[in-house]
Amino acid sequence: MRVKMLDLTREYRNNRAAYIEAVNSVFDSGAFILGDFVGKFEKELSTFTGAEHAVGVGNGTDALLLALKAAGIGEGDEVITTPFTFFATAETIIEAGAVPVFCDIDEYTYNIDTARIEALITDRTKALLPVHLYGNPCNMTDIMSIAGKHNLKVIEDCAQSIGAAYNGKYTGTFGDAGTFSFFPTKNLGCAGDGGAVITNNDDIAKTINMLRKHGSSKKYIHDIIGYNSRLDALQAAILSVKIKDIESKNLRRIAIARKYNALLSDNVIKPSVTSGAVHIYHQYTIRVEKRDDLREFLSDNGIDTAVHYPVALHKQTALEYLKASGLSVSEHAAEHVLSLPIYPEISDGEIDYVCSKVNEFVS
Ligand SMILES: *Cc1c(COP(=O)(O)O)cnc(C)c1O
Repeated sequence: MRVKMLDLTREYRNNRAAYIEAVNSVFDSGAFILGDFVGKFEKELSTFTGAEHAVGVGNGTDALLLALKAAGIGEGDEVITTPFTFFATAETIIEAGAVPVFCDIDEYTYNIDTARIEALITDRTKALLPVHLYGNPCNMTDIMSIAGKHNLKVIEDCAQSIGAAYNGKYTGTFGDAGTFSFFPTKNLGCAGDGGAVITNNDDIAKTINMLRKHGSSKKYIHDIIGYNSRLDALQAAILSVKIKDIESKNLRRIAIARKYNALLSDNVIKPSVTSGAVHIYHQYTIRVEKRDDLREFLSDNGIDTAVHYPVALHKQTALEYLKASGLSVSEHAAEHVLSLPIYPEISDGEIDYVCSKVNEFVS
């Protein structure tokens, strides 16, 4: 049997008519950048998340950069984040002019280890940037209490966690801003690049709205230096179709994760869920001793897997200059984690097959 990590054509085939209609309606409007379709989707995203404002931007990386800038992070500031994430998390801190300070992760959730944050705080620390990795929320009680005590901003990287909740509230609504990516492989993906920032802060929303269109509040009137990072109307129209189903799609992911949990051998370390959280399984990531051998064995049996992420950020060539150390949990995770196929349209038969092959290898 052949099992892909992700097959987006299955979802498209199920909803083809709705997507064609959405695309047609944008062409009929003749307006392709920002505009009514983007405004409509922004409203749907703020309603869904419960945040006051949602601002569509070009992609999830820009969502982080613009949120950091709008929160006042810049030259000389330090931002504490995790080294076990996608590169963009640290890259945007540097692009904003600040310095990423890496805090090691929890051995089981792979999220920032909140018990280690305070030791890293200095006079220059201005913000915390937690990532809800794989769709599992961070311990936001700890993070918000540390931020409150030290007067730090909090930007939540929710690229993998749309619809994930902590103590009954969606991720992205705890800190000063939450950032989303609509990259096609994410739980809410569009047909190209897209992103958004949510916030309850009027000033942050206003600033991001300006930053995304060259620092302009009125056409051809520029108050600050900004970027070209606008959400396309076509992407917004597609996202409006998809956001209607995000809750049921996330529930299907949770059901698949339960099936994996039940069927996989106890010789693999299965995902842990943060206490008080709803994990939405953007990835289902296990940990095993002989990760690379298992990966090869599964590949030989037609099963795709992925490694999120093979190199902790402080070990990336581009970031070696930071000389960050004391991050052994992240380094160990980078060597041992393996993400198995999970997406709403995967069949139960495919999951059964993946489990039987993993179990064959680890038994
Ligand atoms: C995908 C992702 C991003 C970047 O989003 P893009 O839309 O690809 O720019 C940032 N952070 C994390 C954790 C991600 O998974």
